[in-house]
Amino acid sequence: MPGHVVGLRCISCGHTYEPTPTALTCPACGDSGILDVVYDYDRVRLDLTRDSLASDRNLSMWRYLPLLPINPSTPRPNLRVGWTPFYRADRFAEAIGLETVYVKDDGQNPTASLKDRASAVGVVKAIEAGATTVACASTGNAGSSLAGNATAAGLRSVIFVPERAPQGKLAQLLLFGATVVMVRGNYEDAFRLSATAIDRWGWYNRNAALNPYLVEGKKTVSLEIAEQMDWQVPDWVAVSVGDGCTIAGVGKGFADLQACGLIDRVPRLLGVQAVGCAPINRAFKAGTEALTPEPENSLADSIAVGVPRNPVKALRAVRASGGDMLTVTDAEILAAMRTLGTTTGVLAEPAAAASFAGLAKARATGLIRPEEVVVGIVTGNGLKDVANSLKAAGEPIHIDPDLRALERALA
Ligand SMILES: *Cc1c(COP(=O)(O)O)cnc(C)c1O
Repeated sequence: MPGHVVGLRCISCGHTYEPTPTALTCPACGDSGILDVVYDYDRVRLDLTRDSLASDRNLSMWRYLPLLPINPSTPRPNLRVGWTPFYRADRFAEAIGLETVYVKDDGQNPTASLKDRASAVGVVKAIEAGATTVACASTGNAGSSLAGNATAAGLRSVIFVPERAPQGKLAQLLLFGATVVMVRGNYEDAFRLSATAIDRWGWYNRNAALNPYLVEGKKTVSLEIAEQMDWQVPDWVAVSVGDGCTIAGVGKGFADLQACGLIDRVPRLLGVQAVGCAPINRAFKAGTEALTPEPENSLADSIAVGVPRNPVKALRAVRASGGDMLTVTDAEILAAMRTLGTTTGVLAEPAAAASFAGLAKARATGLIRPEEVVVGIVTGNGLKDVANSLKAAGEPIHIDPDLRALERALA
C-alpha cells in the first residue's frame, strides 16, 4: 500500500480500517458508513511541494501521486486524465455581474467529463485488487469514463444505465467496449440492480459513493485549480451536485492542500442542484444530514439523482468551507449553456452549466459580491448531450444558396 495513506476512516463511527484495494463501506455502519482516505500529511508535505510541482513535467492528474491512494508502481490507464485547461472568462463574468470568473474545463478529459479522474483511480484499484472486470451504475458519465479507462488498461466493464441516458454517452459506452445494461427505470433502479449484480459476479465496484478511492481522484481538480492560480485560491468554487461525490472531492482537495501547507485558506463551495431534483440542497437548508428521496425531474441528467449516495460527505464539505447551496431551473441551465458558449467558446452539458447558472443566481441574490473571485467547473462537455445543447442553442439561419437572400437575412 502507498506509504502516504494511513487508513480508511468511517465518516459515521470514526473507526479506521486497513486501506485494502477492495474496501468499500464500514462493516459496522453499512451503507451509511462511507470511508474516507486519511493521509500522513507530514510525509506528503515532504514529497509534494510548490517547487517539486513546478519542475514536474507530468501534465496529468498523476502529478499529485503523494496525495493519491494508489501504489505508484501499479500500471495506470495510459489516457491523459486531468491537467485540464483553466481560463479567465471576462465576458462571462461581465454577463453575470462579476469581476473575475475562471472556467475549469474538465470537459477536456479523455472521455469528456470530470468523472475520468475518479474512474482512472478506480481502474488502478481494480488492477491492485486483481480484478479483470469493473462495474458501476451511471447516469452516463461515470459509466463512459469507466469504460474508457478500463479498456485503456485492458479491463472489461459492465455498466448499468437508466433508460434516459443521453445518446452521446451511450455511444461512448458502446464504442469503449462496455457491456451496457440499460435498465427500464430510473438511476436508483439501475443502481440497485448494479449492486446486486456486483455481489453476484464479484466484479470490481466503481460506484462512486461506496468506493472510498474515487473521491480521491475527483479531488485532483482542486489541486489543479490551486496550482493553476499560483496558489492564490479563489473566494468561491461552484460545483453541480448529484450524488455528492464531486463536491465532496473538490472540498477534500482544498482541505488536503491546506493540511500540507500548500495553501493557507480554502474557498467557499457553492453547491448547485436542479430545482426538479434537489434532495441534498433540501437537507442543507434544513441543517440536517438526513435525506428525503425525490423524483428525478431535470434535463440535467448527470445531477438528477433522487437518492444520493454520498450526501453526508457533500454536506460536510460545503459546511466546512463556509459555503452555501442553491437550486436552478432547467431554463436557467439552458441559458447558462448559451451564455457560457457564446462568451467563452466552452461547451458545457446541462449538469455542468448548472454550476454557472448557480453563479449567476448567487450574484443576483447578493450571496456572491461583485469583487469576489470565483471558479466554475465544467464537469462535462456539451457534445455528450446534443439534444439539450440544441435546445439551448436556438435556430440557424435557413436560406437558399443566394447572396441577396443572405443580405436580407443578415440585415
Ligand atoms: C456526475 C456529474 C456531476 C455531479 O457529480 P456527483 O458526484 O454526482 O455529485 C456533475 N456534472 C456532471 C457532468 C457529472 O457527470
